[in-house]
This record gives sequence, C-alpha cells and structure tokens, in this order.
Amino acid sequence: MKLSDIRSTLQEIHVSPVKTLGQNFLHDQNLARWIVDQAQITSGDYVLEIGPGLGALTKFLLEKGARVLAIEKDTRLANFLRERFSHEQLEVLNIDALKFDARTLFSHRRVKLLGNLPYNISSALILRFLAHPSPISLWLFTLQKEMAMRLSAKPSTHDYGGLTLRIQLRHHVKYLRTVAATVFFPRPDVDSAVVRLLPRDPQELPPHDEELLVKLIRLGFSQRRKQLRKLLRERVDDWDALSRHVDIDPKGRAEELSLLQWIALANFIAPPPSPDMRLTNNERFPVVDKNDKILRDASRSEVHANNLRHRAVHILIFNPAGEVYLQQRSRWKDRHPLKWDSSAAGHVGAAESYDETAQRELKEELGITVRLEKISKLPASERTDQEFVWLYQGEVAGDLSPNRTEIETGAFFPETVIDGWAAARPEDFAPGFIECWKVYRQKNGGNCGALT
Ligand code: SAM
Repeated sequence: MKLSDIRSTLQEIHVSPVKTLGQNFLHDQNLARWIVDQAQITSGDYVLEIGPGLGALTKFLLEKGARVLAIEKDTRLANFLRERFSHEQLEVLNIDALKFDARTLFSHRRVKLLGNLPYNISSALILRFLAHPSPISLWLFTLQKEMAMRLSAKPSTHDYGGLTLRIQLRHHVKYLRTVAATVFFPRPDVDSAVVRLLPRDPQELPPHDEELLVKLIRLGFSQRRKQLRKLLRERVDDWDALSRHVDIDPKGRAEELSLLQWIALANFIAPPPSPDMRLTNNERFPVVDKNDKILRDASRSEVHANNLRHRAVHILIFNPAGEVYLQQRSRWKDRHPLKWDSSAAGHVGAAESYDETAQRELKEELGITVRLEKISKLPASERTDQEFVWLYQGEVAGDLSPNRTEIETGAFFPETVIDGWAAARPEDFAPGFIECWKVYRQKNGGNCGALT
C-alpha cells in the first residue's frame, strides 16, 4: 500500500496506530516485494507471518503461492485483512503471537517465518520462534537495526554478546540490509534492518553440552568488562591450561571468544556427551524365529547386518496434559541417527523379558520409573527392522532426565500434531516409530489415516 492508501485505510477502519503494539506500517512497495523475495518462497511453502498489519508483506506472499498463517493481535486489523484478501490460501489468527503454539507447525512440510516485528516484543518473539526443536527452515525478520546487529555480530565487536551466541549456536544469521525509518508510517524513532536466519546442520558444530554452554555464556557476559578468568573462577581450576587449550588470551573477556572457542571452553570444563558404550561394546541379544521363539544370542552387528529377527520395546510416555514425549535419536546411533522416535525404545537383552527391558530402557534413557501398560505387540517386519515390538504406555508428572549420550533432544507433543507431522514428513521419523504410532492411534480412535 502507498502512504496515502495507508492513511485513508486507517481512517476508514478507525485505527490510529498504537505505539505499544509497534504499529508502524510499511509503505514502500518495492521494499515489501524485496523482503518477500529474500524468503525464497516457492509455491506450497507454509508461511507464518507475525504482525501482518495491513498486509504489506502478506500481499506478496500470497502472490508467490504460499499458504499463509498470519497472526495479528489487533482485532480491527485482523478483520480488515480477512476482508481485504479473502483468499483461500490465507488464514488470519487474531491472537498474541507470543501465545501461539509453534509445535503445530510440525504438521506442515516446508515452514518459513516472516515478520516486520513489533519492536517492543521483538526479542521475546525471536526467542520463542527460534526455540528448539523447530520445523522452521527459514526466518526473515525486520527488526530494530540494533537488534539485527546483535543477532549477526562477530566476536570483539560492540554488538557481540550472550544473545548473539545463543542464536548463532543453532542458526546462521545474515544481516541483509538496513531499512530507513522513513519507509514506515508512522515513522519509528530508529532505523530497522532485515536479517535472515537459516538452521545449522545438527552435526556442523562439535558435540557439546548446550545447557552448560549457555550457562557459561550467561556468566561470561554478566559483567562485560571483567576478565573471563575472574567470572568463571568457580568453574575452572587451571585457567592457564584452559586458555592454552582454547587458544585465548588468559586475560581475555567474554566478547573475544568465537562460538567455537566457547564450545571448546565448555568441553574443557566438562566433556561433551559421547557415543553410548552399548553401541561400541558389541552388545549381544537374542535372535528369534518367526514365532518369536528364542534361537540363540548374536552380536548387534551380526543381527543388523543379516536382518535377523529379534525383540524390542517401544514406550510412549504421556504428561498429564495427554501429550506424548518424542525423542530425537542421538547422532551416534548406528540405525536412524537424528530421527524422531518413541519416548524410549531398545532391544530386549539376553535373559531379559519384554517388561524388564521396558523398565530398564525408561530408567536408562529418561531417568524415570513409572507403571507401564501394554498397548499391543507388533510383528517383526522390514518396517520394524525385523523387530518383534511390544509397545507400552505410561504417564509422568515430573521432569524427565534424557540421557544425552542416547538422545539428541526431545519434547512433548499433542497427539494430533504427531499425526500431522508423521503424515507431512514421515522421513523425520524412525520407521519403527511410525508403525508403533499407527497401532497406538488405531487403538485409541485417533486419526492417522494419512499415514501409509
Ligand atoms: N507487517 C506490517 C507492515 O509491514 O506494514 C505491520 C508491521 S508492524 C511493525 C507490527 C504489527 O504487529 C502490527 O500490525 C501490530 O498490531 C502487530 N502486533 C503487535 N504485537 C503483536 C503480538 N503480540 N502478536 C501479533 N501481532 C502483534
């Protein structure tokens, strides 16, 4: 929309821009088109637009053939958008974007996020929509210039800080261009900038304990001007050895360390998760016949190399809200690394029953003991990797302690989200899980008909 159209539209719908909602509307059409171009939209992309306002970007997103979910907090603007576009590819949600459940996005095949963000809540929105795990494959934000510089900063610069590192840990950030305040109505007090974020490959950085790393970064930047050795005194006994190992100035400050040096520092303090010993010590378990009768024991490598029938358990753990915990398998697994899977799962060992295995796996993988109910037994097939599987379910009220050597990450998901996700992107999952999920949903009257 041109500036004159924006003014007249606002008058018609009786809106005077609200500062606390960051209502500054873009009136430069060429810039709006350019911004949307940077999202590399292809038809069929599912785009979440935050704060669509009068639809400056929405228009071009729809023209590119994207399906758009636009979240607008201001009811008057949300109603206006519905009328202005009434397009079958557009859904307008009149809610606070900070309350949107981003897990529902897993049900779409290719998800991108775009927004000229309301400035006063931009950092809260960024942290929420960049939270891990995420199905989003590209984020394009227009932000205050200062915030864009912080996100994309390099070490030893004024803008480089804890937020930079937290975001760059999982994303590549590119500062695309500065945007003058004059392209908005009303004109904001500061300039803006457009940044694009792409997810890092999960294997790109050396393994590290993310929780520890983030704690150290927070501590390191808690007093920017202070030497790191003083701030981390309680964590590090031999700072000189650490600074040689990480290759930093022993009197250096937090802002001088690159992301890789921060990771090396955290790994010096506590070794990162390493491959599960059970994968390397050639675990043995029973081989069975087509009726699940035990024939003999064999090594893991022999069983898998020769596709021999064997036994396994899968467990679905629910929280009190009825959501299911899914784990992403560790990068070191010999089968299906980094795929999503049941809450816990594992092979039945020599001289072990299915029930005993289920309790052992729960303890080893999630650190819990809960009462389990049997759901069903699945026959051995190609899709279960020749495993006879007993599927169990249980409920947990407290926290889980996922074993980092076995589990990359994990989260609770509503059942309907898992249905949609498994139908839209079955390749994200270990095939055995898909089989278990179909059986579970059939038994519970759920709808996972789209799964084949
Ligand atoms: N995209 C439009 C444009 O470029 O002209 C408007 C951008 S304006 C900077 C920010 C928009 O976000 C406004 O329409 C405002 O009403 C909306 N907004 C503010 N807070 C919001 C929130 N918490 N959730 C969703 N939308 C919000």
